Amino acid sequence: MNKSYYGKLIFEQSKPGRTGYALPHREADTHTLDELPESLRRQNKAQLPEVDEPTTVRHYTNMSNNNFGVDTGFYPLGSCTMKYNPKINEEMAALPQFSRLHPQQDAEFVQGALALYYDVQSILSQIAGLSEFTLNPFAGAHGELTGLMVIRAYHMKNGQHQRTKIIVPDSAHGTNPASAAVCGLHIVEVKSKPDGTIDVEDLKPLLDDEVAGMMMTNPNTLGIFEHEIPEISRLVHECGGLMYYDGANLNPMLGICRPGDMGFDVMHINLHKTFSTPHGGGGPGSGPVGVRRGLEEFLPNPRVVKTAEGRYTLEHSDKALGSVSTFLGNFAIIVRAYAYLLSLGKEHLEMAGKLSVLNANYIKERLKDYYKLPIGGLCKHEFVFDGLKDEYAGEHGSPQHVSTLDVAKRLLDYGFHAPTIYFPLLFHEAMMIEPTETESKETLDAFIETMKKIAQEAKEQPELLHTAPHQTPIRRPDDVRAVKDANFTYKDLTASK
Ligand SMILES: *Cc1c(COP(=O)(O)O)cnc(C)c1O
Repeated sequence: MNKSYYGKLIFEQSKPGRTGYALPHREADTHTLDELPESLRRQNKAQLPEVDEPTTVRHYTNMSNNNFGVDTGFYPLGSCTMKYNPKINEEMAALPQFSRLHPQQDAEFVQGALALYYDVQSILSQIAGLSEFTLNPFAGAHGELTGLMVIRAYHMKNGQHQRTKIIVPDSAHGTNPASAAVCGLHIVEVKSKPDGTIDVEDLKPLLDDEVAGMMMTNPNTLGIFEHEIPEISRLVHECGGLMYYDGANLNPMLGICRPGDMGFDVMHINLHKTFSTPHGGGGPGSGPVGVRRGLEEFLPNPRVVKTAEGRYTLEHSDKALGSVSTFLGNFAIIVRAYAYLLSLGKEHLEMAGKLSVLNANYIKERLKDYYKLPIGGLCKHEFVFDGLKDEYAGEHGSPQHVSTLDVAKRLLDYGFHAPTIYFPLLFHEAMMIEPTETESKETLDAFIETMKKIAQEAKEQPELLHTAPHQTPIRRPDDVRAVKDANFTYKDLTASK
């Protein structure tokens, strides 16, 4: 990517008295003002930027050009499945027949929308090998909470109130323990073996009559298929617990194997990841939850059901765990997922899974001489490096040492989004790479060459990496402060200091 990609933005464009509009003077305006009580009137003029229209348009357009997305470049963010989002999905979601619906409309008048909703429920059930899905939850984490509430409701119905323990692997995504805690469950951690999969021997002593269930991600956050699932699932069921499948990594499994067949009772799917909806910057998402036969009654209200006459209605059940969302969830995301599912079809969905695995293995194999690969062998759709190899990174603790953060920052200079870094927590210099199936070999090769070049730079000019990025509009913001003390004012506050 050429350097001009990152234009410098000037934020202070205000000139006193400058406007982008002209309003006619009307007597009524002053009149109204007189009627406004003194206490409600502003004493000083509002401090707003005074700019003309072209300046404003340019400012926002340039700012949008500095926004990185899947539509501007390669985005190998592990765990997030940043695949290309086909534009036909957007067109479908924007159809006025969908976008102008009102959630309070009577079911009789929105049969088409409900049919689509019902179809997605059914397709997901087939893909997952489960009995029924609800599309109500707004995100993966929300799906986790909903799924765990189903598990709780099931135990409560059986009089098993003491089942409050949930087993979560040490490699789990942070939302797993967080959702479990919100659900009022006690989290018990199970360890991973050096090969990255769950240690069954560590699991056994944790199993007793207080176990509500176990959460698993498969392939796990290291991109490794949990090959001992049948045994784990047998053990957890034997002690009366249920199996929860975090389906955020469903992509490589598409059309190849199904959580339901592996013994899972409840799962969520991240529609915005696996079924391609734009989700940079945290949303909007959709986290449908599926259950095996026998657990349907606990799914949240409302449920979309099909009557014997072929009509669609909303059903509210007393047995349900209650409601988890307003109305039916993020409907526009469901439309996008539907468009994606229909455009790929059963015959091509499987290709997505296989190509995502091929692409990840291709990058891994071509870079493993430069970056530490703590877990070798075949990965699924993503894999984890543990930083640069020592010969490139320099000695740990020495001033020359080049960290994973330095490599990630340097990638920005070359126009690539950085991989997920410092997660999973199992490795100190973790760098989690997920290319997805939608990238061409040329893009993968360009990324590989850049990663090699960065390794060489690390060895020869470590300072260049310590101070990277050099081409971006801002350099290294304090990322903790940026989150905790976000400041969105248009004024350059540092200038007055
Ligand atoms: C993304 C992700 C989640 C959370 O999903 P959100 O939709 O971001 O709430 C949970 N688990 C794993 C493994 C994930 O990658």
